[in-house]
This record gives sequence, C-alpha cells and structure tokens, in this order.
Amino acid sequence: MSSWWLLDDPGTPLPSVELDRVDVEVVGAGITGISASLTLAQAGLRVRVRDARRVGEGASGRNGGFALRGGAMPYDHAREWLGAERAAGYWRLTEEYLDRLAALAGDALRRTGSLRLAADAEEVEEIRVELAALHEDGFDGEWQTDVLGGRFPAAILHPQDAAIQPARVVHRLAGRAAGAGVAFVEGSRVESLAELQAEQVLVATDGYPSGLLGSLEGLIVPTRGQMIATEPIAERLFDRPHYGRHGFDYWQQTPDGRILAGGFRDFSLDSEFTADEKTTPTIQRALESFVAELVGRPLAVTHRWAGIFGLVLDFLPVVGRVPDGDRAWVAGGYSGHGNVLGFMCGDLVARAMLGASHPLLTSFDPARLLLPNSPEAP
Ligand SMILES: Cc1cc2nc3c(=O)[nH]c(=O)nc-3n(C[C@H](O)[C@H](O)[C@H](O)COP(=O)(O)OP(=O)(O)OC[C@H]3O[C@@H](n4cnc5c(N)ncnc54)[C@H](O)[C@@H]3O)c2cc1C
Repeated sequence: MSSWWLLDDPGTPLPSVELDRVDVEVVGAGITGISASLTLAQAGLRVRVRDARRVGEGASGRNGGFALRGGAMPYDHAREWLGAERAAGYWRLTEEYLDRLAALAGDALRRTGSLRLAADAEEVEEIRVELAALHEDGFDGEWQTDVLGGRFPAAILHPQDAAIQPARVVHRLAGRAAGAGVAFVEGSRVESLAELQAEQVLVATDGYPSGLLGSLEGLIVPTRGQMIATEPIAERLFDRPHYGRHGFDYWQQTPDGRILAGGFRDFSLDSEFTADEKTTPTIQRALESFVAELVGRPLAVTHRWAGIFGLVLDFLPVVGRVPDGDRAWVAGGYSGHGNVLGFMCGDLVARAMLGASHPLLTSFDPARLLLPNSPEAP
C-alpha cells in the first residue's frame, strides 16, 4: 500500500554515480540518511546510501506531512527533563533546521503554521502550561479559543511550523545529494555490517528493524502509524496541519482539497507496536468516522496506508556511535516527529562522524538506552 504522497510524487530516477571506493555507507534512504549523506558528500567524502526499498518509501514518504519545531515531548516537559537552557537550545536548533529545510524544499514546504489543539479541559491546562513555558523562554506561539467552530476549546498556533509534501521533500533532497556525488542503491537490503567495506557506517532506519544495531536493536521501538486520504473537496476547511489528543489525531488538507488524516493509535495501542506495515479495520474505521465528523459528512476514502516510526521511552532522538560497534553510527528514534528532527539529526550525526560533535548530542547518546532502568520522560 503506497501512501498518497508517494503516488503524488513517485520521484524521478537519480543520476547513477560510480564510486571506486566508499568512505561512508549509509543504510536507509529516508530524510535522515539523505540529510547525512548530503553533509558528508559536501565535506568531500565518498558516500553510498542503500535502501531495501526505493528512496523515501519508509516513513519519510508515508507520514502526516507536519514539519514542526521542537522535540517529541511538550516544551515544559523538555525543560524539566533537560534543564531550561538545554531545552531552549534544543528547540532553537530545530527552528534553525526548519528554516534550512524550507530553503531546500522549495514548494514542497508551505509555511502555514500548525495548530496544537486541546480536546478537553485537562488538555487545555496542559497546553496552557506549555505555552507559558515557551513564552517565558522567548519562543512565539499564540493562544486561541473556541477553535473550529467551538469543537476544540483551545489551541496553540505555532506560527513558524509548516505543511510539507514529505515524499517530494525527500526526493528533492536525494536529487541534491546525488548532485553532490552520493551514490544511491535502491532495492538492496543490508543483512549484516560485514557486507559493508567502508570505514564508517550510518544506520538511519528509524522504526524499521534493520538487524544492524546490535544491543540497541529493538530499543527504538517499531511503532505503526496509519493514515487515510479522502477525495478532494471544494471547501478549504483547514489552512494548516492540526493535531490534538497529545498528537493521537492529526490531519491536514492538501492544496488539491484532500483531507489526509492519521493517528488513533490509542484505539488499539498494543497491536500498533509492530513493524508490520499494514492497515487495520479498527483504526481505519476510527479515522474515517473522525474525518466525517470534522467535515460534517462522510467522504470517499481514496487511499489507505501505514508506516513505521521509532518510539523511544524518553522521547529523545538516538544519535551517535552504536555502543558496541567500532565503526557504526545511528540516527533515529524521533518518536513520530522525524521530519525536522530527521533532517537535523542526519546533519548532526554526519558532523559528529566528521569529528565535530554538537553539544546537544550528549543528550541523544545511544548508550543511555542500555543503562539499567533506562530513563522514561517525566
Ligand atoms: C503514519 C506516520 C505519520 C507520521 N507523521 C509525522 C509528521 O507529521 N511529522 C513528523 O515530523 N514525523 C512524522 N512521522 C515520523 C517520521 O515520518 C519519521 O520519523 C521519519 O520519516 C524517519 O525518517 P528516517 O529517514 O529516519 O527513516 P525512514 O524514512 O523510515 O527510512 C528508513 C529506511 O530504512 C530502510 N531500511 C531499514 N532496514 C534496512 C536494511 N537492513 N537495509 C536497507 N534498508 C533498510 C527502510 O526500507 C526505510 O526506507 C510519522 C510517521 C508515520 C509512520
């Protein structure tokens, strides 16, 4: 089942690049692997990216199309967890990378802002606390009430966020990487690191189990997200990405009028911790009736699909050297927020491989996942 995004933008064949020697092998041709490959190639290294499927066919071409600043946890939780200074640094860095992504993505990214909705009184209180923390640290964000005709009591408008056509973003970046000399090998599953001759290897597979991560394998938990796309409708109901119930519901309207909605994982939580990329009737039905309720009438569903993302218990990315591997690095575990984080962490891991590790990476250290009682976010 292909996503609507991938059907809308199937990508064009990449120029073939012949390399007699390879300095870095990247496994995974999603936003992370491609971002890393671009940085490494621009630094003069010979880079090959391999994927079991085609470029962008993992979560990078199957997601909700939200490009949000910040991490996977609410900002006030990040402050509690990381300390105010580090949390603010983290959020600022994601804002910078969102700007950089916008500069590279062209018309595949629209700077619409996003709406973080509260569905009930408890969630209103939660987002009120989050917005206060953002304002205290100098970040923007606008309080709204009675949103969507009063259906939602309150929301935060994050004015800098964006709606993307994620498949187009990743295909564009891949074109840029190929232009910088990166070789892409599609349809090539790597079964073992021993197959790869390069001095360094980056495993950029997020939630898809690669079998290449040694003792980290499975600690970035494969988690399924399901989506639907409807027929186009004439009314423009949603100008920007909307998400509520702690991100369990999310939707946007594409420029051609379709509603793309995802989530409802909490309707069947246990069954969704899987790497099996298929849709299920329970969640598909929940998505369909949610969209019918939002729009005020049932809409024909034209596309259904699933994708896998990597969930980490403390909601922080996993970026750095694989603890028990001498030449292996990893970047992934964005807990469902990989569009900007994947682009950012791909670049950060590449810089670390080049010897310039960003200070934030100490908080993303993969080794933390191996500690006894490894941490869970507050
Ligand atoms: C339904 C859904 C909705 C989402 N919505 C959003 C959203 O709106 N905003 C947001 O920011 N994030 C969202 N995410 C998360 C986001 O899509 C991902 O975190 C991000 O795309 C991860 O990118 P990546 O490049 O790290 O991995 P991926 O794009 O998943 O790519 C990993 C690739 O690794 C390949 N691979 C795995 N093992 C091997 C191997 N052994 N050999 C060769 N290849 C291998 C796979 O084939 C795959 O193509 C969503 C995810 C899903 C599933």
